[in-house]
Amino acid sequence: MKLSLVKNQQISSLVSDLGKSLSPSGIREFFDIVYSTPDCISLGVGEPDFVTPWRISDAGILSIKDGYTHYTPNKGIIELRQLVSDYVMKRTGVEYSAEEEILITLGVSQGLDVALRSIVNPGDEVIFFEPCYVSYPATIQLAQGVPIAIPMYFKDNFSIDLEALEKAITGKTKAILLNYPGNPTGASIDKNTLKAIATLAVRHNLIVLSDEIYESLTYDADHFSIISLPGMKERTIYLNGFSKSHAMTGWRLGYTAAPRELLDIMVKIHQYTALCAPSIAQYAATEAIASAEKDVSKMKSHYLKRRNFIVNRFRDIGLPCHMPEGAFYVFPDISSTGLHARDFALELLKSEKVAVVPGDAFGSHCGNHIRCSFATSIDNLKEAMKRIERFVASRG
Ligand code: PLP
Repeated sequence: MKLSLVKNQQISSLVSDLGKSLSPSGIREFFDIVYSTPDCISLGVGEPDFVTPWRISDAGILSIKDGYTHYTPNKGIIELRQLVSDYVMKRTGVEYSAEEEILITLGVSQGLDVALRSIVNPGDEVIFFEPCYVSYPATIQLAQGVPIAIPMYFKDNFSIDLEALEKAITGKTKAILLNYPGNPTGASIDKNTLKAIATLAVRHNLIVLSDEIYESLTYDADHFSIISLPGMKERTIYLNGFSKSHAMTGWRLGYTAAPRELLDIMVKIHQYTALCAPSIAQYAATEAIASAEKDVSKMKSHYLKRRNFIVNRFRDIGLPCHMPEGAFYVFPDISSTGLHARDFALELLKSEKVAVVPGDAFGSHCGNHIRCSFATSIDNLKEAMKRIERFVASRG
């Protein structure tokens, strides 16, 4: 006992300051409690409830049978890079060379890490918009950058405040990180706002990191990417992947597209830290991008029905809720209950066994919101909303 205490003290003096400085994810912390609550309906997880379409898994299995179990080129297999290049061209009208401008990554997570480490010098500032995906501030810190958060508000439909963005740009700003449709609100960014951001990026010579992981889960209008604007391919790192669109979170596969000078640096960092993305997942993704369009549409039509259901239910209950343009999250305002999001989430879990994520996990000013994922069956959503309604009524 004594010995292990000494050892622990010795170890804690050996771990890095950077590692210690990271805050634990607000989601993980909360889910430690959720996992110990049996029979709970979870609206907490940020991943599709569907399993990977079988044709995709089958391609992965076939690649194992055929012995494609080795390292691949650092950038990824050329067949997949070519298909990614074709896909991005079809969706955005922008041409990227499969040989020189596409990198296959271990999900958008690693793509973002490599992208940031390729552009950030210690102390450089990276601007992003909160509420946001929980990894953003930490990934910027890990690249020795300084995270600069600009708040977005429900009253503005979680749109970007361009004046606040312009004010936040300093001599140290290196990049602007965008996510649209976004986690946790599902809000997208309209074309005019993207144009204004592009103008600022050009004027201040900034890189744009464009996380478009939910682009194919856009419901009412067509998704429009910032790379489609004149002059933006040259200064944007485009990030996308298979986790959400193809229900492939566990395969860990994504991609980035960037101009050659940037991609060359990214490839070096990727090569020394990951070597290559998993070969089997790359073969599966080749099938996904080549022939699973119908599977994606089918899943999307389920998400759309669920989105309409859950938004209407929240509004009926009296909790104002933004209609998400994409992704599979809603971020209702719970102010009327008089509870802080953490208390709301804990009480709801205890009394009704429904798990939601407190909004302040995504931005410190969002303690009056909760994030609910509708990547779960409509039956689960119906039951969860019945329980949430009962819980909210019990507060009034
Ligand atoms: N970007 C956003 C906005 C996300 O919401 C997520 C996952 O929730 C990721 C990136 C990570 O995706 P991947 O599984 O491709 O690493």
